[in-house]
Amino acid sequence: MKKIIQLEGLDCAGCAIELERRISKIDGVNTASISFANQRLILEYENEQALRTAIEKVNSFEKVRVLEEKQTHAHNGHSHIEHAHQHGECLCGCSHTEHMHKHCQTSENETNIKGKKAIKWNHAHMKKWAMIAASALFFIIGVLVGEFAQGVGAKIWQYVAYAIAYASVGYPVWLATLKNVRQGRIFDENFLMALASVGAMCLGEFAEAVLVMLLYQIGELLQAIAVGSSRRSLADLMALKSETANLLINGEQIFVQPEQLKIGDILLVKAGEKIPVDGVLLSDEAILDTKSLTGEAEYKHVKKGEEMLSGCINVGGMYEMKVIRPYQDSAVGRILDLVENAASGKAEPEKFITKFARYYTPIVCCLALAMAICMPIFAGLITEGKLYFKDFARWLHSALTFLVISCPCALVISVPLTYFSSIGACASKGALVKGATFLDILNKADLIAFDKTGTLTEGNFTVCSIQAEGLSEEELLELVTAAEVGSAHPIAKALMGEKTSLKATSVREFPGRGVRAEMNGDVILVGNAVLFKQHAVEHPHIHSPYTLIYVAKNGVYCGVVEIGDRVRKEAKDAVAELKALGFERTMILTGDNEPRSYKVAHETGVQEVYATLLPDEKLQKVKELKREGVVVYVGDGINDAPVMTVADCAVSMGQLGSAAAVEASDLVLISDNLHALPHAVKIAKRTHKIVVENIVFSIAMKAIFMILGLCNLLPLWLAVMADVGVMLLAVLNSFRVRGSWK
Ligand code: ADP
Ligand code: MG
Repeated sequence: MKKIIQLEGLDCAGCAIELERRISKIDGVNTASISFANQRLILEYENEQALRTAIEKVNSFEKVRVLEEKQTHAHNGHSHIEHAHQHGECLCGCSHTEHMHKHCQTSENETNIKGKKAIKWNHAHMKKWAMIAASALFFIIGVLVGEFAQGVGAKIWQYVAYAIAYASVGYPVWLATLKNVRQGRIFDENFLMALASVGAMCLGEFAEAVLVMLLYQIGELLQAIAVGSSRRSLADLMALKSETANLLINGEQIFVQPEQLKIGDILLVKAGEKIPVDGVLLSDEAILDTKSLTGEAEYKHVKKGEEMLSGCINVGGMYEMKVIRPYQDSAVGRILDLVENAASGKAEPEKFITKFARYYTPIVCCLALAMAICMPIFAGLITEGKLYFKDFARWLHSALTFLVISCPCALVISVPLTYFSSIGACASKGALVKGATFLDILNKADLIAFDKTGTLTEGNFTVCSIQAEGLSEEELLELVTAAEVGSAHPIAKALMGEKTSLKATSVREFPGRGVRAEMNGDVILVGNAVLFKQHAVEHPHIHSPYTLIYVAKNGVYCGVVEIGDRVRKEAKDAVAELKALGFERTMILTGDNEPRSYKVAHETGVQEVYATLLPDEKLQKVKELKREGVVVYVGDGINDAPVMTVADCAVSMGQLGSAAAVEASDLVLISDNLHALPHAVKIAKRTHKIVVENIVFSIAMKAIFMILGLCNLLPLWLAVMADVGVMLLAVLNSFRVRGSWK
């Protein structure tokens, strides 16, 4: 069983790692993956007991709480729909005046939770700012009293001021520390800061103790703001989703949430509004802006009866549409589902930092302990030749700086955020990446193989010529129509004539070859040369730049249909861009004939052609290619689902309608635009660069601070500030991934 659990209050990345590790250990939990960036726990578990234990674990962990649980691809809200429809009114029972409907919207669960959360967040921030301001004020008072007043009384006042300053920022840290220690978690940042400040006090450095806590809290707050802004960037993407839909019942408009719509509902879409769910146009014509789906500003004219994908914006007038898919199965629902759950597949660098953090902190803490104890003894033995603590205060101070810099926050926070933003950036360009791992693969990939039909070409075939032998063209078309009725291949659609009185009794489809049908006792073969060879049927060898579909009746060749299919208009540019991005070899793997394949290769700039491949030969070819490099395979999901499972990164052409292709692939190009692929590769490359920069920068800075700390050149407060600084710089750097954002 698999469940997605939305969490709340997960504001430290180290905690996310720790919580994930703890949940994974629960009996009956197969895998647990926490995405820090969107605060989600994806849990695969065996029994309810395990689920309950996991939820308890979450709720007892720091400030983290379970916000909502949902089954993957959960369909809900339908019972509400019935209700709303029956009574013809809003869920909350109010009348539907414009100002009232706002109230209805928020009565629905989700918005409510989101709204509350936003308010609570700001509340939490305000409280922290107030705390910090109070602490800073008392700290300054303390410093001033120390500077300008003398005597015992003044000293006391100074300490009181410091104590208040310390308490106002320190108490949440201490609270968290106690809670964690009770649960057996010691090496967390709260504990380290608490320890460092106590150490400073032991050294008599009260001002420093206050500064450590104060700076740490300022850092935490800035981090929360930066992380919040990153998290919100996906909410920008959520702008795909309409807040409300205008449902028409008996000519009356009712405002409902997209989730409440069901198939067959009639909606009114006004100018400037987004289409809430997939549907067909009932009015005569509509003009849609597909930018939010594809990332490229493009106007699309839709005629009566044609399909419209949700997420597009109506830039024309007002029109009516009929719902053909419920929200969850609509383009927008699927996109958001994919993107939100993408973070579960963790990338190599993410796994690396998880491991790194696991060892780094305890090692540095042990070093600190060793330094506080061994170094003074060592120094004493060397200089004085006897056992005593020499320069204890100096070494203790060094040890404390080690404690402060032992927190790997910068890495642990910035790396997942970078991937998260990157997945969002790809989505806004029309490419849905199913996990951070695939960004890594796109970055490394050097071979790219395309399927031809439906991928490099549009897949809309038109009949160019018909040659019939021994029967009329109409009779030939009739045979073909009857044979192809059951096939979903784009070729079948093109070959089917208007009508036929023939009815096939048994049909068998040979993937990548054609079909064999029986009707009225005749055996009809429709397909390519491979199919004919297999059935040992002779046919003339025609050389043509088109796709040739041969027809035979009872083992005798009786004609050929030439069908043409245009190359996608963006294919050439997209292939050129991919080459420029470092793909050394580009190739076509197709089941079609050679002349046609070479022509497409020539038109698109693809270098290598492997034609007349059956689906399993395509699979073999990709396996071979994998030995030579990292392979990206781009297909349309028809006849190539098996190949998709072996390619390092399988890309499927949009077709949000075809669930199989979307399921089998690792990256989906929404609305069939090949341009989205080079965009995604660019983003993947940039992501990789930024992640490496952040890792190198953070580790290098830590090393420098350690050396400075060792030489006792780093005051504690500066160590905290440097730590916070590195973390913020790394997070800000991760924002650069959004360079191409919308
Ligand atoms: P591609 O690899 O270019 O996407 P496919 O593997 O889907 O092509 O199909 C390869 C070839 O098999 C087609 O070019 C066509 O000749 C033949 N074929 C496949 N399905 C059918 C069908 N339903 N009817 C006739 N021919 C077909
Ligand atoms: Mg194909």
